[in-house]
Amino acid sequence: MKRGLSKLTTKELSLLNLIVNGKVVRSFYSDDGDVMDSPSPSYKRMKSFANRHKTIYALDGTLVKRMPLSGRDMYLFRERHGISTRMGEAIREEAMMLNDSIKRKVFDRDGKICAVCGSTEKLCVDHIFPVSRGGFTQMDNLQVLCEKCNIQKSNMTMEEFHLWRTNHGKTN
Ligand SMILES: [Zn+2]
Repeated sequence: MKRGLSKLTTKELSLLNLIVNGKVVRSFYSDDGDVMDSPSPSYKRMKSFANRHKTIYALDGTLVKRMPLSGRDMYLFRERHGISTRMGEAIREEAMMLNDSIKRKVFDRDGKICAVCGSTEKLCVDHIFPVSRGGFTQMDNLQVLCEKCNIQKSNMTMEEFHLWRTNHGKTN
């Protein structure tokens, strides 16, 4: 099977899943532990992140003194700090592989019920290990979730999501 992420080197894949002080860092992080969890953030998101924090580090651990302003600056900045365009494209390609035929197979295998809360409404197919962190679009990495659980899980692993649910007082 053709895979978007198979284009990436082992080093690039490991960058997608870097953990700093127990927090998973996907693109940028601040000195107070906040993370911006997009491998290819928009200019607007980068700017608002920069405005909120005095000290920011890039994925590769380098200190970021100035956020880029223009499209070309942004491109060079991403390349320099390990958020390559190639990485963003590979992730998008991998996510796009989740087509209707694969979704049908997952529903046939798992039934039309959310794997986390048991809801049977507004169901979708979720990448168990997120694509934005190197997960593949293949049957053993897919599960049925309801829309609510899917949005809450975002790009957490199941382990992190269960911890998040516990911390937010969710028991079912
Ligand atoms: Zn659910």
